[in-house]
Amino acid sequence: MKFCPVCKIAYSDNAEYCKKCEAYLQPKQESPQPVKTDAGRLVKMCLYTGAFIVFIMLLYYLLGMLIK
Ligand SMILES: [Zn+2]
Repeated sequence: MKFCPVCKIAYSDNAEYCKKCEAYLQPKQESPQPVKTDAGRLVKMCLYTGAFIVFIMLLYYLLGMLIK
C-alpha cells in the first residue's frame, strides 16, 4: 500500500505517482520512521551528554593540575 503525501489518497504498490496531483507516492510506513529519528536523537543526546561530562572532567583535571 502506497499513499500520496499531498492528498492522502491510498494507492496500490505498483502505482508510483498520484493520479490527482502527480506527486511521488510514499510507502505507507510512516509510523516507524519517527521512532527511528527519535532513537537517533536519543543516541545523539547521549553522545553529547557523554562528551560534555568528559569535557567537564578534563576541565577539572586540568584545573587540579594548575592548582598544584
Ligand atoms: Zn496526490
